[in-house]
Amino acid sequence: MKTDILIAGSGCAGLYCALHLPKDKEILIITKDIIEHSDSFLAQGGMCMLKDESDYESYYEDTMHAGHYENNPESVEIMIHSSPDTVKDLLGYGVDFHREEDGSLSFTREGGHSAKRILFHEDITGKEITSKLLEEARKRPNIKIIEHTTLLDILCKENVCYGAVIRTAEGEITTVTASYTVLACGGIGGLYRHSTNYRQLTGDGVAVAIEHGIELEHVNYVQIHPTTLYSEKKEERSFLISESVRGEGAVLYNAKKERFVNELLPRDVLTEKIHEQMEKDHMPYVWLSMEHIPREEIEQHFPNIVEHCREKGYDVFTECIPVVPAQHYFMGGIKVNMQSKTSMDQLYAIGETACNGVHGRNRLASNSLLESLVFAKRAALDMAEHFPEVKEMDEPAEQADLSRYQNAEALAETYKNDVLNEIERLNKLCTIQ
Ligand SMILES: Cc1cc2nc3c(=O)[nH]c(=O)nc-3n(C[C@H](O)[C@H](O)[C@H](O)COP(=O)(O)OP(=O)(O)OC[C@H]3O[C@@H](n4cnc5c(N)ncnc54)[C@H](O)[C@@H]3O)c2cc1C
Repeated sequence: MKTDILIAGSGCAGLYCALHLPKDKEILIITKDIIEHSDSFLAQGGMCMLKDESDYESYYEDTMHAGHYENNPESVEIMIHSSPDTVKDLLGYGVDFHREEDGSLSFTREGGHSAKRILFHEDITGKEITSKLLEEARKRPNIKIIEHTTLLDILCKENVCYGAVIRTAEGEITTVTASYTVLACGGIGGLYRHSTNYRQLTGDGVAVAIEHGIELEHVNYVQIHPTTLYSEKKEERSFLISESVRGEGAVLYNAKKERFVNELLPRDVLTEKIHEQMEKDHMPYVWLSMEHIPREEIEQHFPNIVEHCREKGYDVFTECIPVVPAQHYFMGGIKVNMQSKTSMDQLYAIGETACNGVHGRNRLASNSLLESLVFAKRAALDMAEHFPEVKEMDEPAEQADLSRYQNAEALAETYKNDVLNEIERLNKLCTIQ
């Protein structure tokens, strides 16, 4: 197979990137599962936006503070200042954010934010955004999306990428040559037992980068979400109880149903406090109560959470629900510059797979959809600008040795170990220093 641009991953990053690439280029998006199975569809709380310039300092400070000031200031500045244009694009695609009675956009607040600056659509903001991106992508004749197709490796020589090795839905191992390849493979939650992520998100892009010596950054910066619904079933994807539930007034209780913490602390600090409390109580969870939030507010803002809890046997209007921290987000990833280019030529990384340093050590709530979109568009514009400089591969892709990829389980195990060992190595280094 041959295409102009190959994108691995159909989350918001992959789709938004495709929508900003030149319409005269052929774009192939491959995705490991069905299109709707991406974390982008799961985002509940919302997406940040700079409402007006007067909020800039505060938004910047909240992002830096949450990231323990290890954020890249340039990326943070770019993300915040690009947010109004990104929202304009989304509204153009028909994204329906919640509005006030006068028709203006509504904003909510989440943990770590000192002001209301988060756009939302009920509690399914990610689905609203990503399904509208998908609708738009499907209208474009130059964009082709193939499901159940996995990027297994990249084709590269002397630090230039020429495409990828893929496994098709029929199980065939083959190659796709491309002028540009974009890794938009999402996070690494599938490597953990308890995670809010889709199980197929196993950090494949990062593993491929490790195999080829492509630069990485902050790979051990893994965010744990403080509040997911506790389940006895260990292999189930953890259901997230959005930060904005606490933003709107939900409280956390210990085993004696006493409040023990400020619920709006940044995620990592709150997670630590919850773990401490669980240990003190000898319990596998703490309680979350929505009793202080008006019923209409819960019904209007969190219908998805209400429904999911009901399915699991909890009535959030009358009782507390058990919650526990779980792996949620990957701040680190493949190191990229401000145009989302990796250290390998003709290879880009975007979304959760990439690390441009926006989040530092810890992500501020509702910054990741925005970051994914802003830097996906920058990747697209950079590829468009540099298209005339693209190098072609000097040997036919068909000559590539594909025997290594035949054993899917062995390859998955190698990749899993690559990523987890790197995380462990860096964690050890941090402890020693
Ligand atoms: C439950 C939940 C709630 C969240 N809530 C919010 C929120 O309110 N606000 C916010 O800003 N962020 C939120 N996030 C984070 C945000 O959703 C993600 O960071 C963002 O959507 C990442 O987008 P992405 O395009 O990089 O990855 P994803 O949307 O995860 O897409 C990755 C894609 O890559 C595909 N893929 C993976 N490996 C391969 C491979 N080898 N070959 C081919 N395809 C591959 C996957 O199948 C998928 O299509 C939430 C995340 C979760 C899990």
